Amino acid sequence: MEELFFKSAEALGQMLAQKSLSSAELTQTFIQRIKAIDPEVQAFLSLDEEKSLRQARASDERRAKGQLLGPIDGIPIGMKDVIAEKGQPLTCGSKILEHYISPYDAAVTERLHRAGAVLVGRSNLDEFAMGSSTENSAYQKTRNPWNLEYVPGGSSGGSAAAVCSGEVPLALGSDTGGSIRQPAACCGIAGLKTTYGLVSRYGLPALASSTDQIGPFARNVADLAVLLQAIAGYDERDSTSCRVDIPDYRRLLDRPPKPRRLGIPKEYFAEGIDGEVQRAVEEAIAFYGAQGHQIVDISLPHTPYAIPVYYIVMTAEASSNLARYDGIRYTHRSPAATNALDIYFKSRREGFGPEVKRRIILGTYVLSSDHRDAYYIRAQKVRRLIAEDFSRAFEKVDAILSPTAPTTAFKFGEKMNNPLQMYLSDICTVAISLAGLPGLVIPCGFSGAGLPIGLQLIGKAFHEGELLAIAQQFEKAHDFSQRYPKI
Ligand code: GLN
Repeated sequence: MEELFFKSAEALGQMLAQKSLSSAELTQTFIQRIKAIDPEVQAFLSLDEEKSLRQARASDERRAKGQLLGPIDGIPIGMKDVIAEKGQPLTCGSKILEHYISPYDAAVTERLHRAGAVLVGRSNLDEFAMGSSTENSAYQKTRNPWNLEYVPGGSSGGSAAAVCSGEVPLALGSDTGGSIRQPAACCGIAGLKTTYGLVSRYGLPALASSTDQIGPFARNVADLAVLLQAIAGYDERDSTSCRVDIPDYRRLLDRPPKPRRLGIPKEYFAEGIDGEVQRAVEEAIAFYGAQGHQIVDISLPHTPYAIPVYYIVMTAEASSNLARYDGIRYTHRSPAATNALDIYFKSRREGFGPEVKRRIILGTYVLSSDHRDAYYIRAQKVRRLIAEDFSRAFEKVDAILSPTAPTTAFKFGEKMNNPLQMYLSDICTVAISLAGLPGLVIPCGFSGAGLPIGLQLIGKAFHEGELLAIAQQFEKAHDFSQRYPKI
């Protein structure tokens, strides 16, 4: 059985094709797995067994009639609980949306339905995707399957832990400043933050609208490619969605990548990066050099400003976007409220957790008329400089390699009382988000304590295909993505 849980989606698809088992059996097996280990891992907030089995049986019927919808038809998938699925809860990890049920499907959910996927459940996250450890969830603390005393990263910690522990072969997450990449690194799986505009956010409650993106988690790069294929593409309901040609990502992987110029940004190897992380990433760089790629030292000089700029821009946008959770429309309404103002104040006070309140207050401050120029406007200017760093670098290189996070996963509670320490977990990921670029993470080693280390590959806008190919070359030559936790 263990074998089955840790198989790739592609391998499971082959088993379905060979009729070694049906999608209904496969789904049932994964649901049993979730029921057996999730009391420990705590990756899922809700499961819908009946609906998943219905979807699985429908897939089996399509297969019998020769009407399959593609490579993930009949494959179980986990959904971060910020992506709307009609009739399912959409808590965003917050008490304020505890009883909210999605009235419609997100664009990516529609696409997964069209691809025949089986959506088994809703995965845990930091409240409104604010955090790097999933400890900010209002509901539960997801544990890192490699060591249950450690966090899985965040904010998409539930999706990452679910794939890592063999509860599902695939999952979707969202990434505003690192929320797919950092948990992928902490859990030793593959994750992709897509180019801004590649995947529709219709049905993804807005956090920081200028950086939010949806992307896939998987056990390996080929599976990432297949899931990306299912969700990428223009959608008129998201005004930032781009009309770009979508290549056949999976086919691009059939050949090894051409020799490329790979940039190593010195600022990402500066003080504060843990020695083991640095060594593993440097070994990965040496591997690429030995494969005939040209390794080029580059500089992204505005990197030191990325964290402050991100935490100004994201809190500003979040404070505005979260104004809609007002107790009037679809959220928790305080039973103690007696008039309109009271409804706003009390419902929000009771419904939001401390990190969300902190960010709303910060965001409101940086947008306030007295401080707007000093913070928000200035941050937008520096954001432009950060993006230009990347444009200049990409004149010299085809892709950039870096660590994903300064350390491996940390212990519960280690950073909870020090928000600045927590924010520094994002030091290697936020600049890429501010610049709207794609970032792909694969495991590139393990620490002495047995925790995974992630390599981040950063690409030009809409060059996901190239990143996948470069990443797969490393993956094929190492066994990191075949290792799995003993759980
Ligand atoms: N950890 C970052 C934050 O707390 C990123 C979150 C995200 O990407 N949603 O904002």
